[in-house]
Amino acid sequence: MYWQKDIETVPREDLEKLQLERLRRTVEIASRSPFYGQRFREAGFRPQSLKSLDDLRRIPFTTKEDLRSGFPYRFLCVDLDRCVRLHSSSGTTGRITVIFHTRKDIDSWTELLSRSMYAAGMRTSDVFQNMMSYGLFTGGLGFHYGAERLGALVLPTAAGNSKRQIFFMKNLGTTVIHIIPSYALSLLNTFADESVDPKEDGKLRIAFLGAEPHSEATRRKVEEAYGLDAFNSYGLSEMNGPGVAFECTEKAGMHVWEDAYILEVIDPATGEPVPDGEEGELVFTSLTREGMPLLRYRSRDLASVYPEPCPCGRTHRRISRIKGRVDDMFVIKGVNVFPIQVETALMEIPEVGNNFVIVLERTDRGDQMMVKVEVNPSSFNGDVRSLTDLQERIRRRLRSEILVTPKVELLEPRSLPATEGKAVRVRDNREL
Ligand code: AMP
Ligand code: ZN
Repeated sequence: MYWQKDIETVPREDLEKLQLERLRRTVEIASRSPFYGQRFREAGFRPQSLKSLDDLRRIPFTTKEDLRSGFPYRFLCVDLDRCVRLHSSSGTTGRITVIFHTRKDIDSWTELLSRSMYAAGMRTSDVFQNMMSYGLFTGGLGFHYGAERLGALVLPTAAGNSKRQIFFMKNLGTTVIHIIPSYALSLLNTFADESVDPKEDGKLRIAFLGAEPHSEATRRKVEEAYGLDAFNSYGLSEMNGPGVAFECTEKAGMHVWEDAYILEVIDPATGEPVPDGEEGELVFTSLTREGMPLLRYRSRDLASVYPEPCPCGRTHRRISRIKGRVDDMFVIKGVNVFPIQVETALMEIPEVGNNFVIVLERTDRGDQMMVKVEVNPSSFNGDVRSLTDLQERIRRRLRSEILVTPKVELLEPRSLPATEGKAVRVRDNREL
């Protein structure tokens, strides 16, 4: 049941020893990059002075802005000769950032993904369809090599082309899929068009859902529609990509692979650590990277640590679902709202369909929030205007979740454009 039993079930004490050993090496490597060389000098930090894991806190945080200003080579710690791959963050705002990997970096990342998939139950006999975009985005190639190393048959169908996805799934007997949750929902429309039921032949058994925030209700919806077990998969390009934290078969939080990453959770406003169980911003330090290690990288992602040991026997701590990024939050009528709260409310209502969008407008009567919601095909009777009862229920459910009452517009199934990549849930027209 373990890919690497020794390391997955290592006693915490030994894990921390290993972390310290790797951290010291990582800091020493990092000091060779122009960026950290200068950072350390400015902060009066000497790599040799790092004696305990707590000493890590003497190093300043690294931010997205630092990565941008260091583009492209200032974080590089080895000769370009030794680098074999580059990935880039999929961020839609701001300047591009890149991460360089040596062969060894790719190798340890690949192991983490094999370990993750194995923990969720994938085996060599599985047929794995990787429906993530291949290229600069880490979700495609990262999982691809991890699945190959695990020994599964990999179908690199990549993102999009929904009909072809379904063709491969049905004709090659796909058992495991890797898919963005919003795409998993919109793909159901194509299944309906093709008159194919995803769970009909009973082959599909596992889905890895990742790359964007999604609620427990969305997981359930995907599990029911596809007839499988869905596992939450978390990562970010700056820390290689997927394979940073992953659910085991307990499906109760994601194990952060602490032999490869040191996790800190901080108050995003003050930078101070928050206690276990409390929500804060995740901060990561890579421990196995040599091409471009990053120290105390502020992910902007919000989550909390579950300190209790997991029944699966893995000793690596778990984190909650990601609530979203600090910057995903919007303010409406003085109330802070995360898109995931809207998603949670909507996906618990069975008549709600597979897509929605939040639109924010500035009007004479103040800012308005409108939620446009597709109706589930099986609840659609030809005229959404007749579904006033559903509209009212959605409005009330949203109010109790987010404490403001938005306008709700019901849409026919398939009215909203389907996305193949990360869904953009909010259209903020207030500054236009
Ligand atoms: P990228 O820059 O493409 O590597 O995207 C990384 C970001 O995607 C993370 O920082 C998160 O904001 C988001 N993300 C990735 N996996 C998950 C997940 N399982 N749940 C929520 N958000 C996720
Ligand atoms: Zn576990």
